[in-house]
Order: sequence, then C-alpha cells, then structure tokens
Amino acid sequence: MELLEIQRGCLCGNRDSKQFWIYGDSKEEVCGAFCETCGKEWLDEKFFETLMTEEIFITIETKRFYFRQYKKASPTTRIVCQSRRVQQGDHLRWVEVQGKEKLTFDAIVESVDDDRKLASVISLQKLAFCEITIGRMLIDLSMVTNLQIVDYGSLCDPAALVVARALASCQVETKVYNILTCKSKVLAGYCKCGPGHGWRAMWLVGTEVSEVLKTLLGSSWVTGREEDCIRVVEQGYAKTKIKSGILFAMDGSAVAFELEDAIAERQGCTDRGSYLDAFIKRFIDILVEKGFKISGAVASGTPGGGIGCFEVPTLEVKMSFFMGSVIKGEVIRAPQKAVGSQLGRVFGQVIHMSVKRGDEEVQLSEINEGDQVVLPGHLSHPRCHAIVVTVNTKTNKLKLIRNMYSRGVVEEWVEVSPPILRVSYGGAPMLPPEEVLQRARSKLGENRYNILTYNCKHFASWCKRR
Ligand SMILES: [Zn+2]
Repeated sequence: MELLEIQRGCLCGNRDSKQFWIYGDSKEEVCGAFCETCGKEWLDEKFFETLMTEEIFITIETKRFYFRQYKKASPTTRIVCQSRRVQQGDHLRWVEVQGKEKLTFDAIVESVDDDRKLASVISLQKLAFCEITIGRMLIDLSMVTNLQIVDYGSLCDPAALVVARALASCQVETKVYNILTCKSKVLAGYCKCGPGHGWRAMWLVGTEVSEVLKTLLGSSWVTGREEDCIRVVEQGYAKTKIKSGILFAMDGSAVAFELEDAIAERQGCTDRGSYLDAFIKRFIDILVEKGFKISGAVASGTPGGGIGCFEVPTLEVKMSFFMGSVIKGEVIRAPQKAVGSQLGRVFGQVIHMSVKRGDEEVQLSEINEGDQVVLPGHLSHPRCHAIVVTVNTKTNKLKLIRNMYSRGVVEEWVEVSPPILRVSYGGAPMLPPEEVLQRARSKLGENRYNILTYNCKHFASWCKRR
C-alpha cells in the first residue's frame, strides 16, 4: 500500500499511515481511516448527516476526516434467511459441517455476480494454530446451506462504507492477528456499523491479554480458534488438541497451551499443579498491574483454574474469561460449581458497557461550565472525575479543576479525546454552575487526596451536590 502523509494525526498521537486502516471508495479515493492504536474512526464529511464535531479531525493528504462517534447501542441483530437476495455490503452467516463439528462463518459481501450465484466475500481466514488473517474468498451461494443475512436495521452504514471498511481491513500489509484480538462476528459488526464498543474492547483488551499469555508461556500458541466457550469446556475441545496444559477462553475465543515439564521446572515448580497455580496467580497479577480489574471466582488452592471478568475501568469494558488446566486431555474445572449454568451465565453476557445509567457520552461542544466530566485516559490510568471551568473547542482542551493523587486540587488546561462522559444526577438538585465553580476554587491548593475517602470523584461530587 502506498504511504500517505498524515499531517494531523489521531487524538491518541498516532500519525503513521501504516498504523491506520485506510478506506478507499469506488473511485479509489480515500474516504476514511481507522486508527489501530486506539480504535477511533475518521470519515469523510459525506458520511455525516450533520457534522457535530467539526473541531475534531485528522488530515490525510490535506483532506480532512472527522471523528465518528461510537454507536451507543450494540446492534440487535435479526437474522433473515433469504439466500437469493444477497447484496453488496451484506453480512452473511452460514454453517459448515466438518466431521463432527459445526463451524459458523461470518463474512461481508464485496460483490455478487448478476445471477446472485457467486459472491466475493471478505472474512477471517485461518492461517495456523490461532493465527488468522483477513482476506477475500469466492463462495458459490447455491452450494451454501443455512445461508443467513444478518440485519442491523437502522444502525447499519451505507453499503459503500461497509465494503470500504472490509477492504481496508484485508489490505493491511500481511498482518497476522490472533483470535483474542479479532473474531469474525465482531469484524463483520465493525464493517457494518463502525468500530463500536465490542470491537474496541476486543481489540484493546485482547492485545494486552495475549501479550501477557505469550510472555508467561513462550511465544507460540499451541492451538486456538473461535469457539462457543461452553462447548470448549464441556465437550472436551482440548482433548483432541492437547494432552496437558492450559486452556484460556475469552468472549468466544479459546486458546490452549501444551505444557512441557521443562517449563514447570524452569519456573522452580516441582509439579504441574503448583506450576498452574503459580501461572494463574502471575497472569492475574500482571493484568492488575496493567490497570485491569479482575472480578469473579479465580480459584486458588486446587490446581484448576478460574472464571471471572476482566474490567477495564477506563474503557467501561467487562469481558468474561475462563481459565482451566488440562490434564491428560480433560479440562479440570475448579471451582466445580463455576462450570455449567454459571459458566453459561457469564459467557452469555459477552461484552457489555458498564457505564452507569445517567453518565452520558458527550461531544466537547455540548459541555458547559460547571459540568462534572469523566475522562477516559489510558488503560493504565483510572477514570478521572473533574469540574469544567472553560471549554475550548478549537484546541480540544478543557480547563478543569480536579483532585489528584500527586498534586491535590489543581486548575489546569487538559487536552481531551473522546469518549468524554458527563455525569448526570438524574434530576437530583444540583448547585448552579457558578456555585459549583466557587466551591471547586475554594479548595485549590488543598492536598489531602485519599483514594478511599477523598478522591477525584468525591471532590467533583461534593462540588456539584446541594
Ligand atoms: Zn488513535
């Protein structure tokens, strides 16, 4: 792919065109870009009915592309079985039986021939083990049984944009992904509606988690693929693939690692059981260091595994996971009661937004003086609550008063990037803006931050509440 000059880069700091998926339209002109680093999407003016964020843009070869807000709702998909009505930009789903197993495929239609017989589709393709790439293939629609079209209703973008996203995703230079960062259903959803919550969560969380797994277990995956997680655990997916090792499943993707005795010995453990315990503990510790919150039952004592949730406070993301040890082909389930109905419940939740009702995502231009905002920051930094003093939409900056661990209550300009959340108190009586600011200013210079009793949120709420 030719290198494009990005004069004004993404809000995250990325301005390397190799780190963007560049969208091209039918005339081969650039019509948008997806930032790989932070998951933001930038689009040509023509894709907006009304441009609300005129002040937030990037420039590629002197042309401006504007920030596209994440869709707030996740698509409620309706599946229609009409094989003869396949069109460009459709999300197709079908099932293939391979041996004893049923495999589900998801793909985006790049084009169809006039007879609606052959379709060129873009989908994830397996390379080896759990490595995947995104590529193009030709399918004969008449040969596919159970063909379905996934309908996204009004959430769906125009077919031209859907195809542009799909093409951009597979024209990225020979990139190999792993199944923890990318899966076909989520990829199709991104092509149809843009990088929504699920896509961003998977991308950003999956990258961190797979880094940690690779660091702890060595660089190579043993096996892995998209799976129904319950089936993975209950029906012995690991049995045929792996003798003894670790099975890790997260939101519909599973990877397994064969353990050599040598690894356990290297880590100073005398047997596999104690190695697995140490591994799980270390795994959780590193993720916590990286800013993840782990909830749920992570087993200790018995060699087995755990089930729980990753929470990334700054992303408002929760993802469920299962980790189990495999001994002689059997997945050892501990705690026992975590498997079965409970496992189903946890995985049923998949990814969801945990934004409290009342917190709303807002544009910079919608923010007023005296508002209480929550800034997302980076993965390793917690959510930060602050009181707004001044808004400058030209420079993307907010002048804020907040209570910080390092410096106490300070007033300063801060460059912000979406998503920005505004805290609303659901009709509860609040002080008028001028009094909120007065209260905030009265504490400037004070330095008695305490994470439990007087943190940034306590301070901001005190400023607001009557
Ligand atoms: Zn970015």
